Amino acid sequence: MMQQYINIKKDYKDAFVFFRLGDFYELFFDDATKASQLLEITLTGKDAGAPERIPMCGVPHHSAQGYIEALVQKGYKVAICEQTEDPRQAKGVVRREVVQVVTPGTLMEGKGMDGKTNLFIAAAEKIGARYSFCYLDISTGEATATYVDGANDDLMQQLQSLGIRELVVSDAFFDELKELADVYSIVLSIEEDAMSAENGAMYTTASPDDLHATIYKLLRYIERTQMRSLAHIQPFNYQEVEQYLNIDTHSKRNLELIHSLRGGDQKGTLLWLLDETVTAMGGRKLKQWLHQPLANQQAIEKRLGVVTALLEEYFLRMELQELFTNVYDLERLVGRVAFGSVGGRDLAQLRDSLRQLPAIQKQLLESGRDNLVALGQALDLCEDIERYLATAITDNPPISIKEGDVIREGYNTRLDELRDASRNGKDWIAQLEKKERERTGIKNLKIGYNRVFGYYIEITKSNIHLADLSRYERKQTLTNSERYISEELKEKEALILNAEEESAVLEYKLFTEIRETMKQYIGRLQKIAAQISELDVYAAFATVSEKYRFVKPVFHADRALKIINGRHPVVEKMLNKSTYVPNDCVLNEAENMMLITGPNMSGKSTYMRQVALITVMAQMGCYVPADEAVLPITDQIFTRIGAADDLAGGQSTFMVEMLESQHAIMNATSRSLLLFDEIGRGTSTYDGMSLAQAMMEYIHDHIGANTLFSTHYHELTSLEEQLSHLRNVHVSATEQDGRVVFLHKVKEGPADKSYGIHVAQLADLPTEIIERAHVLLEQFESQNDGDVKIVEKRIEVPVERIVEKRVEVPVERIVEVPVERIVEVASATAVAEPSAQ
Ligand code: ADP
Repeated sequence: MMQQYINIKKDYKDAFVFFRLGDFYELFFDDATKASQLLEITLTGKDAGAPERIPMCGVPHHSAQGYIEALVQKGYKVAICEQTEDPRQAKGVVRREVVQVVTPGTLMEGKGMDGKTNLFIAAAEKIGARYSFCYLDISTGEATATYVDGANDDLMQQLQSLGIRELVVSDAFFDELKELADVYSIVLSIEEDAMSAENGAMYTTASPDDLHATIYKLLRYIERTQMRSLAHIQPFNYQEVEQYLNIDTHSKRNLELIHSLRGGDQKGTLLWLLDETVTAMGGRKLKQWLHQPLANQQAIEKRLGVVTALLEEYFLRMELQELFTNVYDLERLVGRVAFGSVGGRDLAQLRDSLRQLPAIQKQLLESGRDNLVALGQALDLCEDIERYLATAITDNPPISIKEGDVIREGYNTRLDELRDASRNGKDWIAQLEKKERERTGIKNLKIGYNRVFGYYIEITKSNIHLADLSRYERKQTLTNSERYISEELKEKEALILNAEEESAVLEYKLFTEIRETMKQYIGRLQKIAAQISELDVYAAFATVSEKYRFVKPVFHADRALKIINGRHPVVEKMLNKSTYVPNDCVLNEAENMMLITGPNMSGKSTYMRQVALITVMAQMGCYVPADEAVLPITDQIFTRIGAADDLAGGQSTFMVEMLESQHAIMNATSRSLLLFDEIGRGTSTYDGMSLAQAMMEYIHDHIGANTLFSTHYHELTSLEEQLSHLRNVHVSATEQDGRVVFLHKVKEGPADKSYGIHVAQLADLPTEIIERAHVLLEQFESQNDGDVKIVEKRIEVPVERIVEKRVEVPVERIVEVPVERIVEVASATAVAEPSAQ
């Protein structure tokens, strides 16, 4: 047997081999040592002919699922090796084979999995300066193929933002990616290159050739590890990059579309705000749309049209959402059909979900709105499938197929006969109990059943004298009673047990047939699942649009952007809407760049984000938080917004800032939206200011994208004179009783005062510092040249220490800084932390 183990293990070096031995899965050698630690189970040893005992540990087969999931969640793979012949018939060692390899990308269900999240597995290859990239969710069969531009890092970020944990690559690419993959906690798996574009082509609708090989590689890997039908995997949907609004991973994070910057739950994200979906499928669809808003005006307007219809038809929407609550996760149920792991209860859920379809269709058809009617007509009611399941499956079958009670009465004559026989037999026994009680006069005489003796008659010892024992045979003596059997009882028992056994075998066989039959419906069921999940998202958009008073955006062909009274929907929701100050944003060909000044905490960043969020929401097909929005079709959004320090990546804040700027500048087109918040803040003033100015000039002269730039360098506001497309605006604040009051209102022209010290005061810095800063500011403002000689004096003031601690700038470099800026930076950075919490 150990020889057999070693033979099997050599094909699964990268996985824990769970080796089936009777009622246990055993692990040996290094697998055992490592797994015993990871799973906190006892490590034992086994004599295997070698001088030393080999390490071994095991888990009971009935509770193995939890252990397997635990290992896979930690990023390992588990090869499940079963006994594939009946031990009673085996000559010598029982045959064993690996029947499935569970990997982080192919885990189908588990405690930690949330219905509203897709679990994808991906494959990628390097092709020149870009990557062919495809991914699919095994549980639902949805599959996508596309290209990713950039470097290995960009690929990793793409994976991370989609939540992908396993990437299948070629041998050569594996070596190149290994280290980086560790940093991003992505499990790499190798599938050899079997260049066969034709094979891949079978699975795609319209993708270019070099994607085929990658798709094929992924499918081969899945086939090799899952060893079962891939019938439910849908044709890979080829995403032409130009069809979508492209948002890089950093920007998705900065804008808090799906994940919040603070980490943890989704509270405070756009997803959190928009997710009024009712079904898990709808939740996943919404997330996909958020990842990839559209960039095709017609397609966007089609979505908006449906949202409008559902918004105006309030009762229809309510009705639909009510119906959706009775629709189970069709995509995952279909996945289980394909995998052959579907149970009785799954099929009942499938059937009950299909039963909602006629009512859903009726609602749509009766709406009298063309687009809803068209959606209704496109629904395949799957009545034949529903009917089939209705006749085959009981109303409430148990989870396990082996418990019986799955197949409905009337589906199979033989099964009905067997059930009758068993039922009649049981009735007969009940009758017998009654008869025996009457005959003997023993009221508490009873007929019981146990596995060892079968049916028996039980009489308490105090009553035995009443019974005619010649008709009984004694079987068992208990403290207070005796148990007997009789001939007629045994005859009936044989009948009942035979019928039950045969019925169980037959029921299982019938169920397996039904399960097979269901496979032919996979395609139709997937289609209906997709249609319902889209309707669910449309209804969610209508719900939020109504709830938060959003308006329908209007798109036009040129690049001008006009948002009247726009709001940041998430900040507004958090603040309670009455206190949120709406703001306009107007950009056009003549003036497509805005330089935003204003004190810290005044709302610059919120203003910039709200323009991006309105763009994203509109291109997803949702209404937007504004009184009016006339928008261009944006191709890409790039952001360079504070706070996103890539601490995990070990890069300094300033380096991240420069990398994000580089990425934006190299990839942006005139149809992109650029947000630059406080560029150059992480270095010394002259450095930072020069970089910021140079970037603005470059964007102005070479890119021409709609750009919002915020800065605390007042000097930059004079650029308006040199850059014809640039306009100054500021977020206003006033001073009241020596304290700053933020108005959050965006107004024309540059800000006149920085209010930095007031913000420091708000942050409750010691009064001594605040007062000293006021004195210094006055001194500095009276000197125009920001002279070096002041530095010596500055060394003694507390402000200097704050500068040194909070802003990582060598002291010598600070000498070059115009001094009023030091005060400003000091106050700015001093509030940065508390406000970020
Ligand atoms: P800045 O980028 O200028 O430092 P932020 O955009 O981070 O400022 O805004 C700071 C805080 O001010 C936000 O967290 C929010 O609570 C509030 N705020 C911003 N804009 C508005 C607004 N338009 N209406 C009401 N409150 C706002």
